[in-house]
Amino acid sequence: MKRAIAITAALLAGACTMIDTQRAAPDDWPRLALYEHHVPVGELWRQCYPAMGLWAKLILATPEGCYRLSFDRMRCDMYFFKGYEDSRVTQHEREHCAGMDHPGDSTLHNAWTKWKTAHPDYKLAQ
Ligand SMILES: [Zn+2]
Repeated sequence: MKRAIAITAALLAGACTMIDTQRAAPDDWPRLALYEHHVPVGELWRQCYPAMGLWAKLILATPEGCYRLSFDRMRCDMYFFKGYEDSRVTQHEREHCAGMDHPGDSTLHNAWTKWKTAHPDYKLAQ
């Protein structure tokens, strides 16, 4: 079974602090169950590091939060650094879970299109 998982990380470096407010989420973005996990730094790294881009790893950026999305399970899990939550990071990850991409990026739009194509009976199941 194919799983559509999209992951990004918000970085202290600030490179992942903008959501594309000019482009709406897909009209048919599914209603996902949202889970916010406030975790110790080790767990944050475990969840978020794989989502960091190579450039972020090279500059030794530190993740502040990230999301893991599964259309198969219709859920979006967000991870934040327990005790150091930042409302901007929380809002940023919530917007990703709502289908919003970064400016110039189509990761979530593409992942949703790909998943729908692989699951043509999705509409019947709603
Ligand atoms: Zn982001």
